[in-house]
Amino acid sequence: MATLECQAKFCVRQTGDKIAAVRVNRSVIFLKSRHDAAKAKSMDHSTRRSFLKDLSLGTAAFSVADHQEKPSVMPGRPSSGNVQTAASAPANTMAIAAHPGDAFFAMGAPVALSIRLGGHGVFLSLSLGERGSSTIAPARYGVLQREAAQSAAHRLGAQAEFLDYADGEIPASDEAKLAVCDLIRRHKPTLILTHWRGSWHKDHVACYEIVNDAIFYAGLPALIREEPAHNVPKLYFADNWEDATGFAPDTYLDITPVFDGWFEACALFPMWRGETGFRYDDYYRSLAVERGCLSGFAHAVALMSPPEQLARHVQAL
Ligand SMILES: [Zn+2]
Repeated sequence: MATLECQAKFCVRQTGDKIAAVRVNRSVIFLKSRHDAAKAKSMDHSTRRSFLKDLSLGTAAFSVADHQEKPSVMPGRPSSGNVQTAASAPANTMAIAAHPGDAFFAMGAPVALSIRLGGHGVFLSLSLGERGSSTIAPARYGVLQREAAQSAAHRLGAQAEFLDYADGEIPASDEAKLAVCDLIRRHKPTLILTHWRGSWHKDHVACYEIVNDAIFYAGLPALIREEPAHNVPKLYFADNWEDATGFAPDTYLDITPVFDGWFEACALFPMWRGETGFRYDDYYRSLAVERGCLSGFAHAVALMSPPEQLARHVQAL
């Protein structure tokens, strides 16, 4: 990708005959012509933002590779930092969480953005979080959680999947890892979001372990299951108030285009308004603003990559 023009917060680059506007935080917007690029370049930051929105080109998910070499991929091994999802190929994103609330509140906005950009979205909850209410019996609360997740997924244009582990007792077992492996192979995500391991909640720690090993299993061709092997190029850990120990974000994603729709989807959960003792709506609204302040967007989510995903293979610095 050749750089044509560069300013403090805006670059215009060309890959083949594609012109792209690139912000320094590495989100990318593909333009139709050099004329649009020249117009955008001459505008101040806020006018340019509106102009690019008006072009209905939106902002791009995640980052774009500076170079497009095909890396060697070992079966089951996470890909290196050279493998990046370009804006022209929207991610198929799968959020895998211990409980439905985690999937939608902490991971839902990136899924919504993938769908907005033309990709697919799947929310997988390993349990229903049925023991999360102090006033509603687990059997009834599980039904409410399932219905809320299905409605929220429908509103975002995503699919909802569930495994039936008991809330609080999700086992980091091979059986669970293979069950998640099978769903990864069926949905073929190019990007997975899940919990960071630094959590006080044992189900979240178990989910972290399950997903990491499920990705490994999913990519092993010699592991024969119903579906063929599928390599997942990208994994991110979500910003979750319960998983804050050692959480060090390295990626800020502009969720402004989907913020309202994602917020409305979350509001379908009874717990969103604080009925289980935590003010999720206040927390995630203010967090999106705070992460946006840090990254130059109106609203953003912060994500953390596995260390191997950040490795850069370069011939010059
Ligand atoms: Zn949870």
